[in-house]
Amino acid sequence: MGASVLIVEDEEPLALMLRYNLEAEGYSVETVARGDEADVRMREFAPDILLLDWMLPGLSGIELCRRLRARDETRNLPILMLTARGEESERIRGLATGADDYVVKPFSVPELLVRIKALLRRSRPELMTDVLSAGDIQLNRDTHRVERAGREVHLGPTEFRLLEFLMRTPGRVFSREQLLDGVWGRDVYVDERTVDVHVGRLRKAINRGRVKDPIRTVRGAGYAFDDRFAVR
Ligand code: CA
Repeated sequence: MGASVLIVEDEEPLALMLRYNLEAEGYSVETVARGDEADVRMREFAPDILLLDWMLPGLSGIELCRRLRARDETRNLPILMLTARGEESERIRGLATGADDYVVKPFSVPELLVRIKALLRRSRPELMTDVLSAGDIQLNRDTHRVERAGREVHLGPTEFRLLEFLMRTPGRVFSREQLLDGVWGRDVYVDERTVDVHVGRLRKAINRGRVKDPIRTVRGAGYAFDDRFAVR
């Protein structure tokens, strides 16, 4: 599925449990335990959805929510609040501040997953479809198969994730650092040149014998899935 989730939660066992369950569903997950850290982090990298605890050290969930809604990049970011029982007034304030939905602790994981999917289906429908297609390229997230002009393209797992990541937002240019965060994960240490190596492999596999290259290299900036690829 591949959507990215940022969990802001200071109860470590809960954060770990959520990370485990979401990763098992194919999400790429990052956790932060403080509200102020989450605020800083989200200026660098906006996830596809935010799970936000209400009572946090550093900066409260309410204040973080307010700040995120005031910024263009995160104005429409889906925010799901995690609240404790008895925080009814907090929940109401939360929804008024701009959270999209909430669950009350202790919540059931399957229910949380359903709500996350519902929010993503609204905000990022392209993330929720099984097949991404552009021009003569089709990528199936379920079967992990990629076809070009009806022929199967064999990609390594990293090249597959890289192509999937780029195809989600055609036209958008990602820096090497953003690609490392989004494809390799933030906790993995990999040199930025690794990105170039894998882009090279992806190109070689997908362009075999074809003239149209779907990947754009933007000098000094990074890489993009060419938004004109499908219409050229
Ligand atoms: Ca808390």
